[in-house]
Amino acid sequence: MKVISDLNQPALVDRSLAAVWHPCTQMKQHESFPLVAITKGKGAWLYDEHGNALLDSISSWWTNLFGHSNPRINQAITNQLEKIEHVMLAGFTHPPVVELSERLSKLTRGNLGHVFYASDGASAVEIALKMSHHFWQLNGKPKKKKFVCLENGYHGETLGALAVTDVAIFREAYGSLLQDVFTAPSPDARKAKHHESAEDVARAAANTLEALFAKEHEQIAAIIVEPLVQCAGQMAMYSPEYLRLVRALCDRYEIHLIADEIAVGCGRSGKFFACEHAEIWPDFLTLSKGISGGYLPLSLCMTTDKIYRAFYSDQTRQGFLHSHSYTGNPLACAAALACLDIFESDHVLENNQKQSSDLANAFAWAKTDQRIEHWRQQGMILAFDIKSSALKNVSTFPREMFSQCLKEGVLIRPIGHTIYVMPPYILSKQEMMHLGVAVQKAFDRVLA
Ligand SMILES: *Cc1c(COP(=O)(O)O)cnc(C)c1O
Repeated sequence: MKVISDLNQPALVDRSLAAVWHPCTQMKQHESFPLVAITKGKGAWLYDEHGNALLDSISSWWTNLFGHSNPRINQAITNQLEKIEHVMLAGFTHPPVVELSERLSKLTRGNLGHVFYASDGASAVEIALKMSHHFWQLNGKPKKKKFVCLENGYHGETLGALAVTDVAIFREAYGSLLQDVFTAPSPDARKAKHHESAEDVARAAANTLEALFAKEHEQIAAIIVEPLVQCAGQMAMYSPEYLRLVRALCDRYEIHLIADEIAVGCGRSGKFFACEHAEIWPDFLTLSKGISGGYLPLSLCMTTDKIYRAFYSDQTRQGFLHSHSYTGNPLACAAALACLDIFESDHVLENNQKQSSDLANAFAWAKTDQRIEHWRQQGMILAFDIKSSALKNVSTFPREMFSQCLKEGVLIRPIGHTIYVMPPYILSKQEMMHLGVAVQKAFDRVLA
């Protein structure tokens, strides 16, 4: 019920549009495109200020693993809050950061036993790039300072991370600020022609990469990839064969492999680390997004003993002198530890196999829909593309689809002509079906 004083107060969304500059948004589009004010979340559901429920099928930008307001993560943060909320990590340490580092290292069976912390994903990418570059200087190969990234790859939007990102809309305005990089073909399985498999596409992409490495390896420090799924690049999926081939090429040409698992890590791909599908380990592995369960900004870059030891010296300058104020924040680490507990006690990776087949069933309709192509799935990511012949307007499609999905009570944010879902790992079978039906209804309306 509205009280009198509320009537004079402009709506929350209007105040937000006046005072908040929203991310990844052309603000003017909000003249016609809804802004949703969320005041509560529970499980997979978000609630707006009027109490309308929205199924969060994209895990709030791929961060939320175990639902909103999860009692166990809430409790872990509350417990930590009673002890120490934050302390600098230079010259100091604390129990949650030690335990988290040990447990993550163990998940890589000790292959990536050193964990460097930051707050957001892009900074973890910057750390990997800087460490690689610095490592080669320390090892008498200062000419090795260029990076290779993949066509259609995304690694964040600070200047270093943006330089290795190949998404035109994010780069265009800033091109002159960005360092020069080599861009290698994406192994995107959608490129397969008749009779070609995803492995064929992977091998062809690796062959082109090999030619680049053979010619330029003396100046290449590292290659950065998103293992198995280029998420921001329309959920382009590819064969693990590519990762195996790249690992071998990196070994042969003395080039670091950076696996950016910020989106695909933490069980999203079906294994805890997506690299495990290829049975390889990179030289650097970045995590963020899901690692704190979608609660607090936390990111990290894991690396090997070999890299770590190169920096270990009597010389201060030979150290890795990078830092962020909130590096290794105890509350965020406590949230991450609660997530790792849930992974263990609830057998999340095994259960996700069932979850992902429920997800596939909920979207079975799209497999046979004549307007749709490239239906694909990797663990808890499902995506498909709308054929260009079926689309009236590609540039307005994502917003129209978002708006029509809101009316059906689900949150969806298509990327271009790609519709995808990437839900928290806690949806019931009914919630999955609700999601599939809602998206289909909205889709039919948009294309009608
Ligand atoms: C989201 C993302 C990033 C950037 O993380 P931020 O926290 O948004 O800076 C980097 N790499 C990948 C693969 C991502 O999906």
